[in-house]
This record gives sequence, structure tokens and C-alpha cells, in this order.
Amino acid sequence: MNEPSEKIVGLRIDVDTLRGTRIGVPALCEELRAVGITASFFFSVGPDNMGRNLWRLLRPAFLKKMLRSKAANLYGWDILLMGTAWPGPRIGKRCETQLRACAEAGHEIGFHAWDHHRWQAAIERLTRADMQRELQRGTTELTRLTGHPPLSSAAPGWRCNNDALEEKESLGFTYNSDCRGDHVFLPVVNQRILQTPQIPVTLPTYDEIIGSPGITPSTYNNHILSLIRPNALNVYTIHAEAEGIQCRALFRQLLESAEKQAVRFVPLSTFLTRFPNPPTGTIAPRVVPGREGWMACQADAI
Ligand SMILES: [Zn+2]
Repeated sequence: MNEPSEKIVGLRIDVDTLRGTRIGVPALCEELRAVGITASFFFSVGPDNMGRNLWRLLRPAFLKKMLRSKAANLYGWDILLMGTAWPGPRIGKRCETQLRACAEAGHEIGFHAWDHHRWQAAIERLTRADMQRELQRGTTELTRLTGHPPLSSAAPGWRCNNDALEEKESLGFTYNSDCRGDHVFLPVVNQRILQTPQIPVTLPTYDEIIGSPGITPSTYNNHILSLIRPNALNVYTIHAEAEGIQCRALFRQLLESAEKQAVRFVPLSTFLTRFPNPPTGTIAPRVVPGREGWMACQADAI
């Protein structure tokens, strides 16, 4: 039986860029090793075109977010400009050492993207064949880099739809984490129950809420810890580009505070055994405060 007030949080680390992989991943591995935690890393391994997001500055919602979260400070100008004027560098090729070291440290290795920018910005325009190609190229590269097929996957920017869920089904992932929600479920697509469980993200990210009323760097960690529910699914996402670089000290404080409050961080697969025989559910696009555009959400939750 679980302890009555047991608070367990899946720690998901998204890695979107060359800079995040090269600098943020080793830094986070060091922080986690210091406190004896393993987590789930989701890697982008193809071209880093994330600077193309800069063009979204033209959209008011994105500009507001950039100003609120001081995005240039948070991510660094090199990330914001990457791939804007030339084809982005291949992350997997440039960061073999960092990727291998992360896997060898015992963390769960998941697939995030081949071309993160392309998937996040254009999933609605990708054909099923395009999706399959992105998935195949990325998982093949991750397998080459770590010596094992990735255990799981997480769609870039929580941009996922039923076509993507079906395309992922053939890849043999143990679980997927493609949406926001509140409990583990088996997605139903076209009246078919898919066999790869979804482990949704339950908590907001730093860039979504920092700068909102009452949420400053000094109140942020306690706010996140206050949202953690006992004996329930809790999944928290950090980014190698943020918590691994600019927000590293803040993240270290979060780990320390969590330990004091008996909150334990674990890899996401932990929830497969804690919540066996999950119910079915569906995903639907929703607009979530603090994030530009839509995200896939568990339709019968939130
Ligand atoms: Zn991402």
C-alpha cells in the first residue's frame, strides 16, 4: 500500500536544441547525480532549427510571452537565432558524448523529435508519411547513439493528434507523453484502443507561469510543490535549455525543497506499475494559458 501522503513526481526533461544538449544535459545530469535521482530525458536529434521560432515574434501572443519570461535571457540569443539563416546543425552528430553519458548515468532515454521546429510548427500540415519519416529518422539516430531503441516518446510542444498517435503505435514505445492531463490512459483512435499508454504532463512549465501574478523566481518553486497531489499522477517538465543553463540554481533549490517536503522525483515509467490497467481516453487540442497556440490535452480531464 502507498503511504497516505506519498508524493511522487515524474521528472520529464525535454531537450530541444544543440545548446541544451551540449550544456544543459551534462549540467542536469550532474545536479541529479548529486541528489541520487534518475529522470526521463526526451531528446531532439536532427537539425536544430529552433531559431525559426523567432519569426513568431511577429505574433502578439508570442511577443508577450517572450517579454514576460525574458526569453532571450532564458534561452540565449544563439538558440533564438539558430536555423534562421542557414540549415540547422545536426544535434545527434554534434553531441554524441553528452547523449551517451546521459544514458550511461541510468536515465530513461526517450524520443522527442527529429526536427523539433518542423513538428511543433507544422504538425497540421505533415502527412502520415512525413510523420513516420520524422519518427523513424529520430528513433534510428537515438538507437545508434545510445545502443538501445528509445523507451518512450514525447511530442514536441505537446503538439499531437490522432494521426500521430497511430503512427507512433508501430514503434514499440513503452509509453508516450504527448499531452496535458491528470491520469494515465490508453488512447482511443477511430474506435480502436491503442496499446501504448499515455502519461500526461500534469504541471505547468517555468515559461508558462513565470511573470504571472504572484509567480516570481522566489515564489516559483513553492508554487510548483504546492500543486503536487499525494497518491496521484504528477508529471513535471523542465527544459535542458532553461533549467540546465539559466535556471540551474533555481532547479537545484527545487530539488532541495522537494527533499525536505518528502516529494520524490522519479522517471515517468514508474507510473506504469503504479497505475496498471489504465482506463481509455482521448486527446483534443486546447489552448492553455501561457503557451502560444494549442496543445494536446486529455479530453476527459482538466
Ligand atoms: Zn520540446
